[in-house]
Amino acid sequence: MTAETAAIEKHRGRGGCGPRLVLLLPLVLGLPLIGTSAAAGGLRVVATTSDLASLAQAVTGDLAQVETIIPPAADPEAFEPRPSDFAKLKGASIVIRVGLGYDHWLDKLLSMQGDAAVNRGGAGYVDASVGIPLLEVKGSRLDPASRDGHAHGLANPHYWLDPANAEIISGAIAEAIIRVAPETSAKIIANREGFLSRLRTSLAGWEQLFAPHRAARLIAYHNTWPYFARRFRLNVVDVIEVKEGVAPSPARLAKLAAIMREQGIRVIVHEPFEPEEASQLLARRTGAAVVKLAPSVASLPAASDYLALFDYNVSALAQALSGAAK
Ligand SMILES: [Zn+2]
Repeated sequence: MTAETAAIEKHRGRGGCGPRLVLLLPLVLGLPLIGTSAAAGGLRVVATTSDLASLAQAVTGDLAQVETIIPPAADPEAFEPRPSDFAKLKGASIVIRVGLGYDHWLDKLLSMQGDAAVNRGGAGYVDASVGIPLLEVKGSRLDPASRDGHAHGLANPHYWLDPANAEIISGAIAEAIIRVAPETSAKIIANREGFLSRLRTSLAGWEQLFAPHRAARLIAYHNTWPYFARRFRLNVVDVIEVKEGVAPSPARLAKLAAIMREQGIRVIVHEPFEPEEASQLLARRTGAAVVKLAPSVASLPAASDYLALFDYNVSALAQALSGAAK
């Protein structure tokens, strides 16, 4: 870790500073900007997920070509990289990952690729989970080889589903781009400010749509929604999967049906690539509605970018909750 990144990490770790100040820290302190300078427009950004790619696109605008490794229509937690993914990393100026074991396969690809600048500790390496207030934190990392299903590792990794976390993520991306291509800093900072202004306006609207549904109870198929639920004050009572990636038994479904009846839970949140049988069966047994939400950008056509993902999810879920209340 360089002195510059160490200062930023330390600063972030305290959590008392806004992303804008973090972004400007190297300039304020007069610390050297590390990394090779890439010509504006010649930047290549590779993100493991479509969500991070969408945020990178918002920050870079027309200054970079942004690519995604995990196809958004597939289950990201069951993803196995292909040789073409390795090729994508070649010549990348910035690599952005979710971290927390979600994209654990990236380490191997990066070490095979060998470019220190985009490997852990390099100027172009971004672990977007750094500085995020994590939920469901576990004491130790699970060994991926011993995983049953695709259990969450260090903490729940679905943090991009709290739109307020986009301030931290976009700050980390902007910092990395400015480290690698300092001549882009004014434009990067302006792009990010513009995006954050749109995000804040949208967030106020989303919160308003959920206002009548405070503490509404839901069941979800996969444990994707704790960050989303906390932001919008919803209560995900239980998940259908016994553990991540493991389908439920008939006994578990019977237990969930009993919980749903007892607590009057009328909505089941489902993701496009998860098997539908269990959610549909539970809906038939309890009279609840199944709402398909987008866990990632482009996993449903309406979720075409980061802001559109929330526009869609918030309106679909608020509508389902309104229908269920009747
Ligand atoms: Zn998950």
